Amino acid sequence: VLSTDAYCHRHEITVTGDNVPPPFTSFEATGLPSEILREVHNAGFSSPTPIQAQSWPVALQSRDIVAIAKTGSGKTLGYLIPGFIHLKRCHNNSQSGPTVLVLSPTRELATQIQDEAVKFGKSSRISCVCLYGGAPKGPQLRDIDRGADIVVATPGRLNDILEMRRISLHQVSYLVLDEADRMLDMGFEPQIRKIVNEVPARRQTLMYTATWPKEVRKIAADLLINPVQVNIGNVDE
Ligand code: ADP
Ligand code: MG
Repeated sequence: VLSTDAYCHRHEITVTGDNVPPPFTSFEATGLPSEILREVHNAGFSSPTPIQAQSWPVALQSRDIVAIAKTGSGKTLGYLIPGFIHLKRCHNNSQSGPTVLVLSPTRELATQIQDEAVKFGKSSRISCVCLYGGAPKGPQLRDIDRGADIVVATPGRLNDILEMRRISLHQVSYLVLDEADRMLDMGFEPQIRKIVNEVPARRQTLMYTATWPKEVRKIAADLLINPVQVNIGNVDE
């Protein structure tokens, strides 16, 4: 078993923030609920990826987080698994709106996130709907009406549905901005800001990004409160 320093050095993990908890270097060390551990074992995963190892203990303290790690590093479960635990802690009624909201730049990525949420969350009875453009609204509106714990959405479509007043975000307390750099590159900043205005200020906000340019720093400074920053490898600016 490696010490925290040796583990962080080996996996090129650097953190900034006050009293950052040490990474979870194995699934067993996470104290995750058994139904979630069963799913990660079923998926054939042997250990958390570095971004997961360092994100999970921070996110489970209900702190805001900025996580910067390259594509393919396992960021999705980095925020989904603490999101599942957040859901268990809050016991909200999914009929009055989602508790967890994930914003994603594209339909394809949003669908992949939903697939992971369903695969790893179904034994915890977590429900998830996915909202994206380029498809009819009717089925998505019906999915919303059935109620969901988690909504994964592209900013354009979610904003359209908000303007129709067909979804309420008043119960969201765990907000994820995934692939934040790509969302900004695609020009979604105005839609993101409108959506965030509908989410209560008392919330946990998590931002995941592959790069850390100044536009992303700016929106992080506006939307997150005293975040812990986790970097894996060299940060590409
Ligand atoms: P990113 O968002 O950083 O690009 P993903 O979350 O899409 O990365 O994960 C990339 C791949 O790694 C996915 O196929 C995912 O199922 C897999 N994966 C996630 N966590 C682990 C793990 N702990 N061990 C092995 N594979 C994992
Ligand atoms: Mg991703």
